[in-house]
Formats: sequence, C-alpha cells, structure tokens
Amino acid sequence: MAKSSRMTLCSFCGKSQAEVKKIIAGPGVWICDSCVNVCKTIVDREVKPQSSEGRPVFRLAKPGEIKRSLDEHVIGQEHAKKVLSVAVYNHYKRLLFDNNPGETPHPSTGGLAAEFHDVEVEKSNILLVGPTGSGKTLLARTLARILDVPFAISDATTLTEAGYVGEDVENVVLRLLQSANYDVKRAECGIIYIDEIDKISRKSENPSITRDVSGEGVQQALLKILEGTTCNVPPQGGRKHPNQEYVQINTSNILFICGGAFTGLDSIIQRRVGSRMLGFGDSKDGAAKLTPVQIMRTIAPEDLFKFGMIPEFIGRLPVVSVLDELTIADLEKVLMLTKNAIVKQYTKLFAMDGVKLRFSPDAVRAIAQRSIELKTGARALRSILEKLMLDIMYEIPHREGVIEVLIDRGVVIGRKKPIVKMAPSAADKDAA
Ligand code: ADP
Repeated sequence: MAKSSRMTLCSFCGKSQAEVKKIIAGPGVWICDSCVNVCKTIVDREVKPQSSEGRPVFRLAKPGEIKRSLDEHVIGQEHAKKVLSVAVYNHYKRLLFDNNPGETPHPSTGGLAAEFHDVEVEKSNILLVGPTGSGKTLLARTLARILDVPFAISDATTLTEAGYVGEDVENVVLRLLQSANYDVKRAECGIIYIDEIDKISRKSENPSITRDVSGEGVQQALLKILEGTTCNVPPQGGRKHPNQEYVQINTSNILFICGGAFTGLDSIIQRRVGSRMLGFGDSKDGAAKLTPVQIMRTIAPEDLFKFGMIPEFIGRLPVVSVLDELTIADLEKVLMLTKNAIVKQYTKLFAMDGVKLRFSPDAVRAIAQRSIELKTGARALRSILEKLMLDIMYEIPHREGVIEVLIDRGVVIGRKKPIVKMAPSAADKDAA
C-alpha cells in the first residue's frame, strides 16, 4: 500500500482510498477492488470463450427422464411436471440443434434434414400459475439441477424500468451470471425464475389512460430480455452508469420461467366461460361445480390481458401450466416422501446424535393440517417443524442414553412433550 492513503487513487477508475474497499499498489500504479473484479470478468470472457471448465454447457435429458427426476422432489403437480418436461426438453433440443445441426438426440434419425435448417424454432418461455407454496420455485430449481444449468431467482416486485428507484432488469441476468460463476457461455443457457409476475400487472384495463410505472413499464423492460436481446450487465450490480464495464449477455437461449398466484384470475375466466359452461353442463350451477383450479386450467391469453398483463408479454410466455393447491395428503408426502423430505432431514440430524427420531402418522397429519390452516401451502411446514423441535433439539445433545424420540399428535398440538426412550442402563440410572 502507498504510505499516504489520502493521496492514493486507483490508476484505472480514479477513485480515492475513501471511495473503495481496498487499493492494491504496484510499481507506480494502484488498482481498487472494483477494478480488479472488472478485470477478472474481462479476462474470463476473453481468455475462456468456451465454458470455463470445458464442461458441456447443459445436459440434454428426455421428457420421461426429466419427469422422473421431478417426481423425486416434487409431490403432485402431475400436469405441470409433464408440461415442463416437454417444454424444457424442446428448449434444450433446440439449442443443441442450433449449435450443431448434425446433432440428434435420436441416433436413428441420423441428423436433421437440410430442409429444416432454415426453420427457426422459437423459444417457449413458461408461465406457472399456482398458489403460494405449491412448488413453482421448486419445479424451476429442480429442472435446472436435472439439466445441470445455472439457475437464478428474481422477484418481479423489486424491479422497475430504467431510471426509477428499484432494480434494473439487467440484475435478473446478473444473478444468473453469478450463479454460472461468471462463465458467460454457461449463463447464456441457464434458467431464470421470476417470481410474483402477477404483481406487475397493469393497474387499469385501458393502457392509454396513465403511464403505469410499476406495472406496464416493468413488463416492457422484462419483455426485451424474455424475447432475447444482448444485454449489458454490470458485473458488480447496482444501477448502470456511463463509466462502468459491462459484460454482454445474449438472453436468446436463456429459459425464463415466470410464476405467480394470479389471485382473482379464476373470476375473470369464469366471467368469460361461465355462460358457455352453463349451456354445456347438466344444471344451472354447472359452472359453480368446477374447482378454482379447473376453472384456471381453461385459461386463455385474453384472461391474462384482462388481469393486466400486456399482450406482447403474454405472447412471450406461450407455455402455461396451472398448479394444484396441495391437499393434506400431499403435504404429508412433502413431509415424508421426497428425496430431501423435511422429516428425513430431522431424522438425519438426530441420527448424528445416535438418536432415532420417529413421527407417528397422526403427528404428520396434524402438522400438515396446521400448514393448511396457515394458507401458505408447503411453505409453512419447515417453520412449524422448527418450532416444534426446538426444545428437544436443545436438550438431546446434553442427555446421555437417549435412544429414541417419538413425536405424536399430542406433541404437535402442544398438549405434551416428545416421548423420550432411554437405553436400558441409562433408564435405570434415570429411575434411581
Ligand atoms: P411457490 O414458489 O409455489 O410459492 P415453493 O416452490 O417456493 O412454492 O415452495 C416452498 C417450499 O415448500 C419448497 O422449498 C418445498 O420444500 C416445499 N414444496 C412446495 N411445493 C411442493 C411440492 N409440490 N412437492 C414437494 N415440496 C414442495
């Protein structure tokens, strides 16, 4: 470091010691931490145009394989899993062919006939409509893991169009770049999940009345990256400014999955199809007999428009799937059966202390029941269990000779403490 930090300026950006976290001195030159990062990004980009570790940029899995892997992690949502498996397979197959037209996932077809070489298969981003905690984010995240591509999540409510207070949409792409470890090639084949997309709906049905900054503006800004554009991503994040170095990322092959609850959309759909269904059904209340999810499944672009999404935006999300609300039986499975089921995780934690943790079936049901009451789908399960297990997890590591802990319904509803079983010798000591 230079002796007088007051005088030390970064030789690259001109910032003083006070304006940056760290300045490193060389023979007659100085560089700040920000500029080191920018230089690293440039070097990574220019020296390693291929995926940095020479890894394939993604793994093409067939729809059945994708669905089976989703089944291991996601309970129910059969329709969404099938729709996603096909959409994702098509998306990555398209990338494979675009990069190498002679390539084929089915060796028997021996490559693609020349007549198709000029046909451009458009990208199909995906819209997931479903209540909170039904597995939208989990589905997107699991897909990325199956395909071994980078994955990033953004919340639409934090975004604003350029020039307003909030996050620039480029930050959505920046997160993906970070998740790809700044490997541009890999980021360009990644998956971005944008949550709460329904919260950027236009507030009035007539778009010309007022300019709606929070809704329509953000949809317009997102539209560009959804369609495919080369966007300039500031590698350090934050707002853009003229002196910044940018990393250029082409979003044409990034798969966007947007999710939202779209509360009230069922009434819009019902209004559109109601009379038709009444004529079609067997009784006057034919339409009322449909569940909200069944009504939602008849979703059409015009319903999303009425809800407040702009037509161009709807057009960029051609694959739509409506998720089911999880039932008590589903939540019991979420607790017990998935690969990383929450109960399995606690059982493992107890096993590390040499203790067998058991939940009676009525305890599992009671936890699922409480989660349903909170109306946040499977989201509340973890916090319910965390609260339930806190005292016993505090106690167990100190107690010698415990071999089993049983949680039954009484424990879940707060009537009693977990039932602790001791090793015979320890139990004698306890009794004495
Ligand atoms: P959403 O995005 O629909 O609001 P999430 O995917 O974030 O819901 O779900 C929150 C958590 O609840 C997940 O991390 C997962 O543990 C659990 N979960 C939700 N839905 C399911 C499901 N269908 N199968 C298994 N676990 C689920």
